[in-house]
Amino acid sequence: MTIHQAEFIISNTDVNKCPKELLPEYAFIGRSNVGKSSLINMLTDQKNLAKTSGKPGKTQLINHFLINKNWFLVDLPGYGYAKVSKNKRDTFQQFITDYFMKRQQLVCTFVLVDVRHEPQKIDLDFFTFLGTNQIPFAIVFTKADKLGGTNLKKNIAAYEKKVLEQWETMPIYFITSATNKMGKEEILTFIDQVNHS
Ligand code: GDP
Repeated sequence: MTIHQAEFIISNTDVNKCPKELLPEYAFIGRSNVGKSSLINMLTDQKNLAKTSGKPGKTQLINHFLINKNWFLVDLPGYGYAKVSKNKRDTFQQFITDYFMKRQQLVCTFVLVDVRHEPQKIDLDFFTFLGTNQIPFAIVFTKADKLGGTNLKKNIAAYEKKVLEQWETMPIYFITSATNKMGKEEILTFIDQVNHS
């Protein structure tokens, strides 16, 4: 699939105010600074569709983009940013939880994980949240250009091991780099296939 049109529709913190159209929806989420904005811009061939964050944790909104007039790409807030106050963090988690529990159109959530790091509790906990609530998700390993092949394999295997301690199968995963566009075709083909299945 080629993305020939990507249009910003609305930002909000209330799932009830998200677009009403019954189009398939794909959400992107991950820790602050994981490379989410860069990945979204890479997938859509745009420089600034998603704002790359100089200040992580700042954009705490559900952002809807209409792609090719037939599906929504949803940019969700980054999680795990320590400098957000506890109170704000709770509100933040509540509206994200609402989004996941109520959004019927959500087809798949891409959970971004920085491939340079060992498995992080916050990401594993998030997989558990999605898995427990039967919300389909895929893992997107980001910044793959920063690692050589051996370390890349080692780090992905470490995640797989952790996931398999809890679940029977590893979710589908993508190895990506916003710098060299690795994984772009794979993710877009996956979305296209799911949209046509
Ligand atoms: P966000 O907070 O998750 O939206 O992350 P950003 O997209 O703003 O990226 C955070 C930082 O990581 C920025 O300095 C990016 O330039 C850098 N970055 C993002 N993706 C990649 C990537 O694939 N490769 C490399 N080398 N750096 C990346």
